[in-house]
Amino acid sequence: MRHETASLGGAGGGPSAPGLPSREVGRYDCGLTGPLFLTVGGLHGNEPAGITASQRVLAGLENAGIKLRGRYVALRGNLAALAADQRFVERDLNRIWTPADLDGLQNRIAEEDGPDEGELRELLNAFQRLFLEPCGAGHCAEVVLLDLHSTSGPSTPFLCMADTLQNRRVAFALGVPVILGLEEALEGTLLDFMSEAGHVAIAFEGGAHDGPDTIDSHEAAIWQGLVAAGLLDARDVPELERHRGVLEHACHGAPAIVEVRHRQGTRPGDGFRMDPDWANFQPVERGQVVAQNLTGEIHAPITGRLLLPRYQDQGDDGFFITRDVRPFWLRLSAKLRRSGLGALLPYLPGVKRVAGDPRRLRIDRRKARFAVRQLFHLFGFRRFREDEWGYEFLRRPDR
Ligand SMILES: [Zn+2]
Repeated sequence: MRHETASLGGAGGGPSAPGLPSREVGRYDCGLTGPLFLTVGGLHGNEPAGITASQRVLAGLENAGIKLRGRYVALRGNLAALAADQRFVERDLNRIWTPADLDGLQNRIAEEDGPDEGELRELLNAFQRLFLEPCGAGHCAEVVLLDLHSTSGPSTPFLCMADTLQNRRVAFALGVPVILGLEEALEGTLLDFMSEAGHVAIAFEGGAHDGPDTIDSHEAAIWQGLVAAGLLDARDVPELERHRGVLEHACHGAPAIVEVRHRQGTRPGDGFRMDPDWANFQPVERGQVVAQNLTGEIHAPITGRLLLPRYQDQGDDGFFITRDVRPFWLRLSAKLRRSGLGALLPYLPGVKRVAGDPRRLRIDRRKARFAVRQLFHLFGFRRFREDEWGYEFLRRPDR
């Protein structure tokens, strides 16, 4: 039932250059209708742990002959960067899923792509082909993506998602800290691209790139994801309790849900250097010195928890600061989104519809109340754009 696929066939599916491994790690299905479950490992080339974990899960499914509803397909992300063991070649493949970059693919031939843009084109083609493949008696019921990453410093496992109701169902089943709002702070991620298309999309961070438990964490997340998304029954998974235990142990003491409140960006040549020994979720006080650059010390602008301190050369995110979210707010927001009260938002002072797009609202900075961002998050909107006039919010595609 499992196929080691040499190439997806056709333009854009196979290896991007001779000598590189295939885009598809492998797949497993039993001819039964159900969701299409995708994992991508190595979207950042120095983060191969997710690929090894996906190979373990495919072997586990095959060896136990487990009946699976739908299809599991494991993909490799940035083939050239994986071969070079670096985050990316020229452009970060997890920052170029922007409308401008995707338009760029349409407006030039493949030979004019940069190395990472070529990977973007191939992945996009692979997704499009996978979405159209028949699954059991019909088409795949839904698409669930687990994008597997690791961090430059030591870390407990955690996941990021756009706060849609369909994402919550799978994400909260994994039992690791959930980070909300990272997609507002980062532009052009694969996660954002898939979420905007209405799919279930979760980015899972399994620990340090070469951490002793990182592959185990990824493997545990894939097995639990397959159960939460409805492809497998819990009783069919060999050693599900052990996998749960791996993540439980690794996440002991970490917060359940946090929201990103600050992103510290960096630029090439600005001399950004994180102070030593910062770890994910470590509490930080407003005003505390956390990093340095050529102009001096960098202070935390707010109190919260530090996230993703950058201890590698590549990338333009220095660090993030998060605040804890109480589960009460998530329950309230689920009720609000189902209530239909969101239709009243355009009648609030300072809020206007954007002509021609029912998903967008503009908010006048001078007239809006201070808590407007939190209110819009509760109703399932994300901040989309900011200018001197105010903010633009976009409704997330809840199903
Ligand atoms: Zn990554």
